[in-house]
Amino acid sequence: MADLPDRARVVVVGGGVGGTSVAFHLAELGERDVLLIERAELTSGSTFHSAGMVGQLRADPTLTRMNMYSVDLYRRLQSGDTPPGWVESGSLKLAASVERLEELRRQLSWAAVVGLPLEELTPKQAADRFPYLDIAGLHGAMYLPSDGHVDPSQLTYALAASARAAGVRIVGHTTVTGIDVSANRVRAVRTDRGPVQCEVVVNCGGMFAAEIGRLAGIRIPVVPMSHQYLVTDDLPEGSPAGLPSVRDPDLLVYVRPEGRGLLMGGYERNPSPWSIDAHSFDALPADFNGRLLPEEWSRFEALAANAQRRFPILGDLGLKRMINGPEAFTPDNEFCLGETEIDGFFVAAGFNAHGIAGAGGIGRVVAEWIVDGSPSMDLWHMDVRRFGPHFASPGVTLARTVENYQTYYDIRFPGHQVQAARGLRTSPVYSWHAANDAEFGEKNGWERVEFYRSNAARGPSWRPNGWAARAVSPAVGAEHLATRTTVGLFDQSSFGKMSVSGPAAADLLERVCANRVARAVGAVTYTQMLNRRGGIEADVTVTRLAEDEFMVVTGTAFLPHDLALLRQRARALGLPARIADVSGQFSCFALWGPAARAVFDALSPEPFDPATFRFMSSHDVVLGDVEVRAQRVTFVGEFGWELYPPAESAGRLWAQLIDAGTDLGLVPAGYRAIESLRLEKGYRVWGTDITPETTPLEAGLGFAVHWDKPEGFVGREALVQQRDSVVRRQLCCLTLADSSEVVLGGEPVRQDGQVVGRVTSGGFGYSAAASLAYAYLPPAAWDPGNRVEVELFGRRIPATVVSEPVFDPAGRRMKGDYSEQ
Ligand SMILES: Cc1cc2nc3c(=O)[nH]c(=O)nc-3n(C[C@H](O)[C@H](O)[C@H](O)COP(=O)(O)OP(=O)(O)OC[C@H]3O[C@@H](n4cnc5c(N)ncnc54)[C@H](O)[C@@H]3O)c2cc1C
Repeated sequence: MADLPDRARVVVVGGGVGGTSVAFHLAELGERDVLLIERAELTSGSTFHSAGMVGQLRADPTLTRMNMYSVDLYRRLQSGDTPPGWVESGSLKLAASVERLEELRRQLSWAAVVGLPLEELTPKQAADRFPYLDIAGLHGAMYLPSDGHVDPSQLTYALAASARAAGVRIVGHTTVTGIDVSANRVRAVRTDRGPVQCEVVVNCGGMFAAEIGRLAGIRIPVVPMSHQYLVTDDLPEGSPAGLPSVRDPDLLVYVRPEGRGLLMGGYERNPSPWSIDAHSFDALPADFNGRLLPEEWSRFEALAANAQRRFPILGDLGLKRMINGPEAFTPDNEFCLGETEIDGFFVAAGFNAHGIAGAGGIGRVVAEWIVDGSPSMDLWHMDVRRFGPHFASPGVTLARTVENYQTYYDIRFPGHQVQAARGLRTSPVYSWHAANDAEFGEKNGWERVEFYRSNAARGPSWRPNGWAARAVSPAVGAEHLATRTTVGLFDQSSFGKMSVSGPAAADLLERVCANRVARAVGAVTYTQMLNRRGGIEADVTVTRLAEDEFMVVTGTAFLPHDLALLRQRARALGLPARIADVSGQFSCFALWGPAARAVFDALSPEPFDPATFRFMSSHDVVLGDVEVRAQRVTFVGEFGWELYPPAESAGRLWAQLIDAGTDLGLVPAGYRAIESLRLEKGYRVWGTDITPETTPLEAGLGFAVHWDKPEGFVGREALVQQRDSVVRRQLCCLTLADSSEVVLGGEPVRQDGQVVGRVTSGGFGYSAAASLAYAYLPPAAWDPGNRVEVELFGRRIPATVVSEPVFDPAGRRMKGDYSEQ
């Protein structure tokens, strides 16, 4: 057994494909003092029994790029001393329904954005590549020649060998039993062979990651799920060599060549979480290494029957073995990566049965994160800090994870909503919404109003083509137009609200925000928080409530992330402000539109005075029976307020707003209307339009950067460099020539046939009567009037770059000037 050192700068826990890849990439980045600790042998967790398929294309371009990097790496390793058994066999994805073919064509467009050579095939052409296919009922297929498969154990050993050669120490048969944390930073791991002092711990425990997280008091919401596949006897003599792997998502199955036979697995509709205790926690046996679970034929039968329909030869081939192995799944099918709330405690786990495909990319981004302080890609949706407090509940985590597994291969149409564990967080006026026919959508556990079906009767008859029509209701148009012509009332209680207070609060926010935020008490400031590369880590409004107290408001889904970011920055900068989540203490109702002032005046003992209650200011006012913090801001381009009543008074305020507004044309409205309204005004959304990979200058948010703050701000240097050299791309607004064609996000934008950008977000603007899309474009394409094409489901739709915003470009309405409208 190798000696256990008593200190290492970085300790990686877990010797599966994840841990060895992180160690390998740390070494590649020059990190020499790395120790990998494995409680048994390398590759004795989920990795050894993996099917080893490597598919690259995903809905998300970041993950696709990570998987493409994996393939490059596996190719590279294949020509080294310890080849991982990489076979670049190509892959087929079949479409057994019209909708699936549409989905594949959508993927064809995504592939064009990242430069993957995806090719559409007829069913017959697919059978030419995989002759054991029964093409009955097939509508088409896609072929990706650079996909393949790898031997997962050999891959792990190859990564470990290269890591070792670069100085990484790997110690097996040593179990991490504790993690020492003080002053919110990891200091050491304890093992059954003694302690190891360290600065960084990387939890690469796979299905054991939750258990390892608990050693540091951190919740990692992964659930071990049983996953099964079988391996057949050899195909008949003379069978073609070099068969591609095949996925038939409509039949829930996959097949690939394995030796001279076939390997076949899939995603059951009746999945089986494994080793869950009475409280729904993972409770894995301490000796579960190099082991499998008993075969569960009863659960596999439906998949086997499906597979035999598509690959009839399976009925003739004997069975060599059946594998049932557990794998770590997450509630949303995304990895858990990055630094946790504890400084220096990282995680790379929860790979949802695509950890072999992802391992190369995962190792690289996590190593960068450790060495550089942030990853080079937009990893927000994989960031372990994305989970809201409800995922502390093992029951909620389990329910969502089971649904994720069940629907693994399902098409996600626009407007798709999770079904499991709903109703976790509700606004104080939730019952009012329900009684008034609200269509709810879920975000970060909150139930939010998408639109009110009761508004549909007065809505416009516009309907888009294709998939976009699935998420359209005339109610959205009615709510949008009412906000522009009378007044809309929106319940945004789910907003993330943070209180930042104490003597260091102002200094902290000045240092982490790009804009000047420590202004007069009552000032509201729109700002971004940046990373060191100038990329946008958060997009918030900051209100100064007192000399030493601020309220920071962020989007519903972003609260856990932004909270962790602020706290981490406070520690790193040595500015210890109190940072609290106060989301539940206040509701938020937005009252926006030309008649908003009249509603305000009807309820306020003091009539609205524009001279004192200026745009971007906050005042405590009395409206009806409630004292409320009112902020003159807008996300729809109309005059009005966000009203923050204490949660206990929110019901009263809502009722009085409805009563006061009804005769003034007030219409309660939902998030879909907000989306359409904000698109017309060019307001950016973090996570889509703006991300850690894009800077304020590229995003057209230079107006929110205060360059000359004496104390500077995180990211300033990189931003100054960009300002003083050249901005290579800019977020642009496009209008599609045919307004019944509506983007869903991710579509390529072409100029002269070449891909020059990718749609970040878009939709229909009911006031502009235009189908809008946003995309980062290079200088040669970004001038207003420039003609481009947006590729929708394989069709190229002409579009024009237009100047922003397309509605009320002078911004008069938000200031209350409706004189010429
Ligand atoms: C049946 C099956 C088929 C699959 N097929 C595919 C596929 O075709 N393509 C694909 O991309 N992915 C596939 N996967 C998923 C893939 O295998 C996994 O995502 C990947 O192997 C997980 O790697 P890991 O390093 O995160 O975890 P693991 O391989 O489980 O490694 C975790 C390691 O941590 C160690 N450990 C745990 N606790 C401690 C401790 N306290 N101290 C020290 N060490 C500890 C464990 O012993 C273990 O070795 C499949 C998975 C299964 C189960």
